[in-house]
This record gives sequence, structure tokens and C-alpha cells, in this order.
Amino acid sequence: MTERLVQLRAPGESREETGDRPAPEPGSDHVQPASRRVFIETYGCQMNINDTELMAGKLADRGYVQVEEPGRADVILINTCAVRENAEQRVRGRIGQLQQFRQENPDLVLGVTGCMAQRIGDRLVEEMDGVDLVAGPDAYRDIGERIDQIRFGGLERGQRLLELDGSERYEGMDAVREEGVTAWITVQRGCDHRCTFCIVPYVRGGEKNRDPSAVLSEAREAVERGYSEITLLGQTVNSYRWENWDFARLLRAVALVPGVRRVRFTSPHPNDVTERLVDVMAEEEAVCRQLHLPAQSGSDWMLKRMVRRYTVDEYLEKVRMLRDRIPDIALSTDMIVGFPGEREVDFRATLDLMREVRYDDAFLYRYSPREGTPATRFPEEDFVEDEVAQRRLEELIELHREIQRDIAENEVDRDVEVLVEEPARSDGDVLGKTERNKAVVFPGDEDLIGEYVSVRLTDTTGATFRGERTA
Ligand code: SF4
Repeated sequence: MTERLVQLRAPGESREETGDRPAPEPGSDHVQPASRRVFIETYGCQMNINDTELMAGKLADRGYVQVEEPGRADVILINTCAVRENAEQRVRGRIGQLQQFRQENPDLVLGVTGCMAQRIGDRLVEEMDGVDLVAGPDAYRDIGERIDQIRFGGLERGQRLLELDGSERYEGMDAVREEGVTAWITVQRGCDHRCTFCIVPYVRGGEKNRDPSAVLSEAREAVERGYSEITLLGQTVNSYRWENWDFARLLRAVALVPGVRRVRFTSPHPNDVTERLVDVMAEEEAVCRQLHLPAQSGSDWMLKRMVRRYTVDEYLEKVRMLRDRIPDIALSTDMIVGFPGEREVDFRATLDLMREVRYDDAFLYRYSPREGTPATRFPEEDFVEDEVAQRRLEELIELHREIQRDIAENEVDRDVEVLVEEPARSDGDVLGKTERNKAVVFPGDEDLIGEYVSVRLTDTTGATFRGERTA
């Protein structure tokens, strides 16, 4: 069993082992007797991973070390997602499971953070035994202090940190980066849209953008620590604005940071894909030829009910603009089937859009109602029967797989550059990604993690490639 000192770690750097040594009290030269070990489990999107990194940073400031098993921890945090019902159910189950560790450690502090905490934190504290703290996404700055007050200051359990704070821009909070070869940098939090299926604006509040100088200094710091791939994050990342900076300008500035070799961003809103942005994507070598462009539906009627604020033609115009300037750009999307009011003709329109765009990848969902979102208030008769929604989802998945396999088979025999990310599941192999975000497995050992390697694609399952090193 290893545990690590919480600190920024570069790709390929080894973890610093700390054994059972207690962490020093912040601001003290003396080793304090209190054990400070934290276990953090993260659910959901990349932004949540980045939020976990920020929380880990705040806890590291107070001398906490991260452990990899909950049974070794004095503090357990579950950083949650509220986007889908089943993710919330899993977390409830997990909270129950983790209570077993109180038998050995009655002083254990268990906290629930993130979007689910923001959405139903009060209920979690009231209804579930053993939730000592709930903290929403704008409360991470104070989390370490509050945990220590519970542990050492006699503060009662069941603390609620649930204020949304429009002025919290997370500046001065240093990320303790998770393992991996990509540095995730959040440039924007919250969202000003109100898509009727989405809980995000209610749990993360309105759009808040970061000062570009802070983003750029984080990018430079990531490079100093060995990262060469950066992913910029935001709920509608390309609507970013700060004084006379728009997202296109920010993207170019990050791409030009010396040492940055690849830049990605996610998730853009189709309406904010502008000519200026596409120019930067086409001109800057470091910007990857890949874009996740959520469509959600191929039917104008559904898009209107979802309040996506574009029509299918407008969406397709963005796709054309991208492909005109970047012909081999790899596109991916999100699609929802079975949204309230979806008729067979609407679903067929979604299939048509999939056929027309021919996405390299797609995240396909059956609509799942989220309490508190406008879509739950559509008339009951609009809700699509489960079997119908399931049948549509299966048909959409089948079509997507067919298209994806066809695209991938045409890419076999190409030479690509792969950034190696981790050992593959198959013995003796490693897994990495191409600039166009294609997953490639090829023979190699862990020394290659964090390296760029030339690989010839030799075979594909559709979703993943096999390859052989060429140099
Ligand atoms: S744009 Fe729509 S789907 Fe995306 S986060 Fe905002 S409300 Fe949710």
C-alpha cells in the first residue's frame, strides 16, 4: 500500500512515499501527532477531476496526504456529479458502504462535495447517517479549514457549505494534479444557458470566467512540471469572455505558451463556434484537430423544446465551417433520445444527422429526468415510454458503431503520433491518444508514459486502434 504526499506531480514523476509519517501542522516546523490522511473519490466530468485537484491542493496546504484506500483515511471526500440519476444513486450507495470504516476509526470525517451536494446537500445530511459535511462547487476554498474545525475544533458534524458565490473564481488555489499526461485547466465555471434537460446551471450557477493572465500562468506552470498537453475546460468553454479577450484569443495564447505541444478544449456550445475560433484552430499547430460538438438532437422541434438555441441547419453550418478549414478534423457529439415530445419523425431526424455528420465518436443517452429542471414539467403524455426510448437508443448506437467502424477502417495503415497515457489492459501494451483523440494500443512499457511516439495503425475495433511503433 502506498500513500503520497499531495503535491503537483508531473507525468512520469514518481510518487513521493511518506510511509506512516504524520504530516506537519501548517506553518510549523514540528511534526504534529494528528494524522492527516485524505481519500478522495471523484465522479463525473473532467471539471470535477480538476475540482478534486483544487480541493487536494487546499488540503495539502493544511498538511494532508492523499491515500489510495478509504480504510487508511482520516477524511473521506466523495466529489459527486448530478447530471444523471444513476450517478446519484451510486453515490448514495457508496456513502452507506464507506460507513464501515467508522468501526475502526470513529473520528472519521466523511464529506460529500460537488454538484450532487449542491443539489441535495441538505437532504443528504438530514436523511443519511454519517454525512459530516456537504460542500458545493463554490465552497472548496474553505473546505480544509472546515474539516479541521470538525476534527479538532469541536465543530458539530453535518456542516453545510452550499452558497453559490458569483465572485468565486478559484484564483490562488493550486491544483494537485491527478495522475495523467494532460493538465486540465478550468477557464470557466457555470453556465448562462438553460437547456431544459440540464441541471448544471442550478448547481454551478451562472457563467464565471477566469482572468486570462491566471489561465496563462497556470499553463506555464503545468509546462514547468512536465505537461505538454493542456485541456481547457468550461461548461460552454467557447463563450469565454474577459474584457477584450474572447475564447479564440485565449486559445491562441495558450497554444503559444512555449512547451505546449497539444491543446484541446471542452465542451464548446455550437453557437459560439465562430470564424475567429476556427481560424485559430486551423492556424495554431498546437491546437488539436478534434472537437466535441454536442448536437443533442437532429430535430428542430426537439432542439426548440430543449432550448438549445440553434436549428439543425445552423449546427450543420458550423460543421461545414470547421471542415472547410480543417478537413480531417475528428468530431464527436452528445445525443439524447426519448426527450419529452420526441416523435418517431424526430428520432429519424437524429439518425439523419448522425449519417450526415459521420461523427468519429458519440456519447448517446436516453433522456433521464432531473428533478428541478424545466423538462420535468412537460405534460405527462409527452414522456416517451421506456421501451420506445430504449429501442431508439439501441438503434442509434448501432448506427454510430457502423459509422465509427467505417471511419476507423479507413484510417488503418496511417502513421500517427501518440502521446502515451497509461499501461493498456493487455499485458506488455500501452495506451495513448493521437492528436485527433483516437485511442491506440501498442506494445511498449511504462517508461513511455508521457512520451510522444510514432505509431503505424495496424487494426481497429472501431473505437480503438492497435498499432506498432515505427521509430
Ligand atoms: S449549455 Fe445547456 S447542456 Fe451545457 S451546461 Fe449549459 S445548460 Fe447544460
